[in-house]
Amino acid sequence: MSFRIGQGFDVHRLVEGRKCILCGIEIPHRRGLLGHSDADAAVHALMDAILGAAAAGDIGQLFPDKDPEWKGADSMELLAKVLAHPQVAPYRVVNADITIIAQEPKIAPHREAMQERLANALDCEAVSVKATTTEKLGFTGRGEGIAASAVVLLEKR
Ligand code: MG
Repeated sequence: MSFRIGQGFDVHRLVEGRKCILCGIEIPHRRGLLGHSDADAAVHALMDAILGAAAAGDIGQLFPDKDPEWKGADSMELLAKVLAHPQVAPYRVVNADITIIAQEPKIAPHREAMQERLANALDCEAVSVKATTTEKLGFTGRGEGIAASAVVLLEKR
């Protein structure tokens, strides 16, 4: 089979005293995302989508949050490791579509930079980053956290 599709989803808590990094871009904000790594929920969802398409497990298996090696890890570096995974490397990314679900901060001013950063990392021009609020409903709506979902299509090289 030459095409494989995958989806990923992630959530991180918004807290004071942390950087807010999404799609490899640091967003100036009064609060940031809490996690063992840099907590870039969008890149985490993207990595799980890629791993899912390749049926190569998930980021929890690859980068366990109990492992001190990944403490404070730059998720863009983890993404490079995912792309180099022996089950992923035989594929190229055809396109990727990410949705960030957040009441705050505003994503739109950073969208182009996010798309460019990911397009470079994935060596793929067809990268879409979208954002939505949840109309102040639920944990994202209350600003307690940020969620992200991603879909990717892989094609055998
Ligand atoms: Mg995560």
